[in-house]
Amino acid sequence: MNRSFTITSHNALRCRGWRQEGLLRLLENVLAVGEDPENLVVYAALGKAARDWASHDAIVEALKTMDEQDTLIVQSGKPIGLVKTHRDAPLVIMANCNLVGQWAKAEVFYDLQAKGLICWGGLTAGDWQYIGSQGVIQGTYEIFMRIAERHFGGDLAGRFILTAGLGGMGGAQPLAGRLAGAAILCIDIDPERIAKRIAAGYLDRAATSLDDAIADIRDACAQKRALSIGLCANAADVYPELLARGIIPDVVTDQTSAHDLVYGYVPASRSLEEARAMRRNDPKTLMAESRASIARHVEAMLGFQKKDAIVFDNGNLIRTQAREGGVADAFQIPIFTEAFLRPLFARGIGPFRWISLTNSPADIARIDDLVVSMFPDNKVLSNWIPLARRHIPIEGLPARIAWLGHGERTELALAVNDRVRTGKLDGPVAFTRDHLDAGAMAHPNIMTENMRDGSDAIADWPLLDAMMLCSSKADLVAIHSGGGGYSGYMTSAGVTLVADGSDDAASRLTLALSNDTALGVMRYADAGYPEALDEARERGIRRFEFEASS
Ligand code: NAD
Repeated sequence: MNRSFTITSHNALRCRGWRQEGLLRLLENVLAVGEDPENLVVYAALGKAARDWASHDAIVEALKTMDEQDTLIVQSGKPIGLVKTHRDAPLVIMANCNLVGQWAKAEVFYDLQAKGLICWGGLTAGDWQYIGSQGVIQGTYEIFMRIAERHFGGDLAGRFILTAGLGGMGGAQPLAGRLAGAAILCIDIDPERIAKRIAAGYLDRAATSLDDAIADIRDACAQKRALSIGLCANAADVYPELLARGIIPDVVTDQTSAHDLVYGYVPASRSLEEARAMRRNDPKTLMAESRASIARHVEAMLGFQKKDAIVFDNGNLIRTQAREGGVADAFQIPIFTEAFLRPLFARGIGPFRWISLTNSPADIARIDDLVVSMFPDNKVLSNWIPLARRHIPIEGLPARIAWLGHGERTELALAVNDRVRTGKLDGPVAFTRDHLDAGAMAHPNIMTENMRDGSDAIADWPLLDAMMLCSSKADLVAIHSGGGGYSGYMTSAGVTLVADGSDDAASRLTLALSNDTALGVMRYADAGYPEALDEARERGIRRFEFEASS
């Protein structure tokens, strides 16, 4: 069947209420802006919106016909059934890709996937929260700005960033680098990804060769001109080549899908087409070759680090894969969360986002004004919103990401809900957040690496978060664990709410958003972070303070 991937613009309901309709529109949206919608893949190589097309169609049918007193149960992208609950219960609950500990391995996942028994939801794909490359752009921008402040006098003008991966999430890097004032070179093996980012307005241009790219980067640096260039090549070739030539970038990272050795990373020994064929025909050899390439890739990153470049892991498990491939010192490269963003997470501040469900760019502009006027003292926000407004193109349903914390998220959502009710906005708005959020994720090689108290691998927090969100009236609650190469590496929780202007929505937003961030602050306070302890006291978060006996 020929599928079309479109978003819905009108205000007419196809479901029995805006809560269901909002979730349906978000499902449509993740496919409309996804990387490979024909295969239901949204981002991160294998992150899917539903298990298969039959499951997708059954989900759509369920959303269209279910009552507000029903709850739809989704297991790894497949709708299992409806149960009668009540109007304060979630409309949708999901458990995606959770394997029992000893079985949580990439090979077991691939086998179950081949049997049609499981699918990976990524973080925001399987629970329909993905908003295109914008979803990570502020995080990437804030990392670049922290580097600018710490190492380059507050500014990346005249600085060279080298990175790779222009996929769903990695595609945010060129625009984030440009917004930070840098000249950024992004390597991707797939010319279609480069073309897609240029078309979307995230990337300035494609280079014809490495020499062409370097010449342009040098010019831009000399003139302190912001620039983003894509180069179609394998990062495992380009990084060592630049190192060998003595060309040392100021900042180096990578956002290829290195987490997945079969469906994500393309080894330097193979063309893109060969690697794609091997996914079916010879995944074992492909895994071994990907790992060998990643080892070279990371050795070059370590080489840049030794020559004083600022090098960091941008959350794709590349160091873990390299260590498995024999690069013993791969973890000399710091993870971005610990290096740059942890003080924000400790205060419960993280990537919050809202989406106009009626496809109204004007509503996003109105909320931009609102958010800046509501939090004039929030410097991160008052810098970010004008930048985002000017430079971030719309992909799919108009949306905005902004890092907000405890209390702020709820205040904003209530103000928006009120404006939906009074007709000051064109229509309902959904609120959600990345799973990479304070209380929502255990990911010991990414989010929770080197926690102060050593609690890196404890997955109780996201599980508690999800249970708490169900009892706090959220509209959709999901528990995700890693699939593909992330199998066994993480567990996280997702939440979505629809602000339809009703009093019920106000109650849901208040409970779910406040409790979500409160748990985030409690998680970091429990681990002993001073910022979290302060935040809990200042905001009246009711956590118990006592020394547990060991
Ligand atoms: P994606 O699969 O959509 O894109 C990956 C890109 O890497 C593709 O365009 C592919 O062609 C390219 N690629 C693969 N191997 C390559 C190689 N050897 N050389 C050059 N290019 C190569 O994935 P995505 O959604 O962009 O995510 C990328 C990674 O970032 C994933 O591991 C994902 O889990 C991770 N991620 C991190 C964060 C974060 O918060 N930092 C957020 C989301 C995703």
